[in-house]
Amino acid sequence: MTNITTLKSKIILGNWKMNMSREEVKTFFRDFLNLGPISEDTTIGLAVPAPYFSLVSDILNNSNYGILTGSQNVHWEKQGAHTGEISGQMLIDCNVNFSLVAHSERRTHYGETNHSASKRIKSCLGNNLVGVLCVGETREEYESNKTEAVLDTQVRESLDSLQESDTANLVIAYEPVWAIGTGLSATPNEAEQAHITIRKILKDLFPQTEHIPIIYGGSVNEKNATELLKVESINGFLVGGASLKAESFATICKA
Ligand code: PEP
Repeated sequence: MTNITTLKSKIILGNWKMNMSREEVKTFFRDFLNLGPISEDTTIGLAVPAPYFSLVSDILNNSNYGILTGSQNVHWEKQGAHTGEISGQMLIDCNVNFSLVAHSERRTHYGETNHSASKRIKSCLGNNLVGVLCVGETREEYESNKTEAVLDTQVRESLDSLQESDTANLVIAYEPVWAIGTGLSATPNEAEQAHITIRKILKDLFPQTEHIPIIYGGSVNEKNATELLKVESINGFLVGGASLKAESFATICKA
């Protein structure tokens, strides 16, 4: 099955993490889909817990909105003895359109490295899934002015399996670890500097590729979304907590 997704100029993705019940999923979409259309130039997607893939893709296939269903992780092997993992082929089989790769919670609590991220991102792109590589510095690294160096290593090592021709469905999410779930967003200026750094690294790695989207994540909410989106180098958001409520996610999608 093919699953070619065309990304629009702004990309707003939600990450539900390990949240929501079946009933809450249904209520979320009933409310979200009633909140009216989102701008045509915005791609919207939700990375949901795997048990809800089929529920979410059924709801979305019956709606008129092109909202993407996403996974929070993907494995590089097609199948085999990998208890607890999900392959790219399985995601495609379940009508999933994208996957997060190496979210900071996976790096911090589940041993995700740039090396495993590189294999996971290749699996996404090789299966025509949009691959969203998450990078970002810790508080300690931020406070000791190591942001640029950390991003340089993370981006280069996590993309070292890719050829330039693989990058059509690649998205980078800049998520400073100190901003995730803390209510402390990066300022527009801080996010801009980090996005410019990442853009330079991408240009160096893939000189012929015009535009790999770079989205920002870390305590995005209804109040700060508009200001952050005014920054030219921010191509959208990855939203955690505020994506769990239909009203707040819709407000961010319309920012
Ligand atoms: C995230 O989990 O990727 C995230 C950005 O979370 P939050 O928006 O809650 O900070």
